[in-house]
Amino acid sequence: MESAAETVAKRRRIRELEVMVAENIRETHDTSTLVLFTGNDHLEYKAGHFLTLDPHDFPGLERFTAYLEDVKAKREPARAYSMCSAPHEKQLAITVKEERYVSGLTKYPPLLSPLLVHRIPRGTRLVITGFSGPYVLPDDIESRTERLVHVCAGSGIVPNFSILKQCLVEHPQLKHTLIYSNKTWKDVIFRRQLQDLQAEHPDRLAVVHAITRDPDAVNRARNVRTGRINEALLKELIPDPTAVVVYCCGPGITRYDREAAKEKGEAPAPRFLESALASLAAIGVPDDNVRREMYG
Ligand SMILES: Cc1cc2nc3c(=O)[nH]c(=O)nc-3n(C[C@H](O)[C@H](O)[C@H](O)COP(=O)(O)OP(=O)(O)OC[C@H]3O[C@@H](n4cnc5c(N)ncnc54)[C@H](O)[C@@H]3O)c2cc1C
Repeated sequence: MESAAETVAKRRRIRELEVMVAENIRETHDTSTLVLFTGNDHLEYKAGHFLTLDPHDFPGLERFTAYLEDVKAKREPARAYSMCSAPHEKQLAITVKEERYVSGLTKYPPLLSPLLVHRIPRGTRLVITGFSGPYVLPDDIESRTERLVHVCAGSGIVPNFSILKQCLVEHPQLKHTLIYSNKTWKDVIFRRQLQDLQAEHPDRLAVVHAITRDPDAVNRARNVRTGRINEALLKELIPDPTAVVVYCCGPGITRYDREAAKEKGEAPAPRFLESALASLAAIGVPDDNVRREMYG
């Protein structure tokens, strides 16, 4: 149970804040990092926390939001975005991957992420609410393990990137294996930054990319494998499964996937998160050693 001190700390952390977009950095063809200028406010957040943005705070989306609320017959909720920045860094930043509308597959056009990725110039004012979320390191992480394994897909790298940067600075005893899945090489978010971190900490960070739909990606770098993150790959990269703590983040089965499958009388197809968790269990990582966060 949460202690009184934790409740007070959480209350102090979660509040609305007006920020200004200091930079919109294009990371990949469909992903941008928004660097947020927060004035002199002292920001209390942990690596792995997220903030929220409410579509109702974007005047340019007003009609679209109202229309979607009519057809869905419910209010559009705020969207969560994990910080890609780490608490020791000067600037607060989030990284957003555009959700796509796929004709015949996607029920409604995604509301907020296309705007954040493509149409938020420097100088835009935003209202954020932050910071919260359970996908953070416990204070006693060093007594629990010597190695963190990060298992991520797509924008699921965002909170892990923050955790990784923080750990490399603040927990010098911890080693890291990052196993990162994307469809193609050009979808890899933070590719250069991960390369730099690996070069800076060759004994403490191993990065392996699992690329599912781009066979040529293996020619790009030595640490690239083709195919999904599966049992065989995890077994090879996690030789001591009972000794590691895993942070696993990426797309999972959504409420909407469940409803659509139910209508068809089928079980929803597992997505990245369900497959990765099943593979981790199969190679013998105890469930208590696995933290998970679902996007979608
Ligand atoms: C804890 C957490 C942290 C996150 N962090 C990040 C991050 O760091 N970076 C990032 O890019 N994303 C992150 N996300 C995902 C993010 O919050 C949004 O879900 C994402 O950006 C899509 O929002 P959108 O408004 O563009 O799309 P939405 O409008 O939410 O649509 C998304 C999909 O849901 C479907 N849908 C929506 N409403 C309905 C409905 N009523 N019935 C059926 N289908 C529906 C749409 O058709 C579409 O396919 C995070 C999510 C969580 C929960």
